[in-house]
Amino acid sequence: MTSNLSGKIALVTGGGRGIGRAICLELAGRGATVIVNYNRSAAAAENLVAQIEAAGGTARNMPADVSDEQQVAAMFKAIIAEYGTIDILVNNAGVTRDNIIMMMKPADFDDVIETNLRSCWLCCKSAARAMMRKRSGSIINITSVVGIAGNGGQTNYAASKAGIIGLTKSLAKEVAARSIRVNALAPGFVDTEMTADLGDDIREKAIEAIPLGRMGTPKDIAKAVAFLASDEAAYITGQTLVVDGGMVM
Ligand code: NAP
Repeated sequence: MTSNLSGKIALVTGGGRGIGRAICLELAGRGATVIVNYNRSAAAAENLVAQIEAAGGTARNMPADVSDEQQVAAMFKAIIAEYGTIDILVNNAGVTRDNIIMMMKPADFDDVIETNLRSCWLCCKSAARAMMRKRSGSIINITSVVGIAGNGGQTNYAASKAGIIGLTKSLAKEVAARSIRVNALAPGFVDTEMTADLGDDIREKAIEAIPLGRMGTPKDIAKAVAFLASDEAAYITGQTLVVDGGMVM
């Protein structure tokens, strides 16, 4: 594996499981020191840190509900106190509360916007402060093809993910002069707990709509994140990289 992220300090929100876990493993495998943020999955985050360290990498975990302004501030304060900087931020934490709009409660809309979009804004704001001092950095915001194409039953989730794309482009314009790159990555249909509850018929239909003929793996997403985080993507900012087996094109 290439070690093109040696010496970099990386924070992955919601890093303990699912896509976030694969991103942590990939970044650590390429030499980054990885901070695994978690909210409820403490045991999973602990196991992941142990797995990274056993493989010769460097990682630590850090609890915070990223939808909570105070907890985000405390997390970044702790990161700066320990490492002095942050080089890579991956805003991965996300939830769904699916329903058709007639049945969806305002709280389901608010929860999804706060956990998926507001958290992304809060973490970008804190990371940008440290990155601007250093005049370098890479932020990768995990959106979704649903934020591009829409999806019935996901008005809240699609709004949050479309918002992330607008946030990404706007912030990319604000911080480019300081050599900070901000990109979004839009996974398609990926095999994690988030998609595990979907019925077999929905899964089969979704796979039929994927030209490459399979669901994505967390590793498929992690490899693309590692690319955007690295200097190999040095001239790429403000973009949304779609990683979906061709589902939306
Ligand atoms: P997942 O398996 O359900 O994992 C969700 C992750 O988000 C967990 O690590 C969870 O951490 C974290 N999280 C949720 N609320 C949080 C909060 N308030 N503070 C901190 N962390 C929080 O989902 P996934 O499939 O890996 O999804 C990861 C990202 O990819 C999400 O942004 C999702 O929208 C996006 N995505 C997924 C798919 C897909 O098909 N799976 C497709 C497109 C986009 P805790 O368990 O510690 O709370």
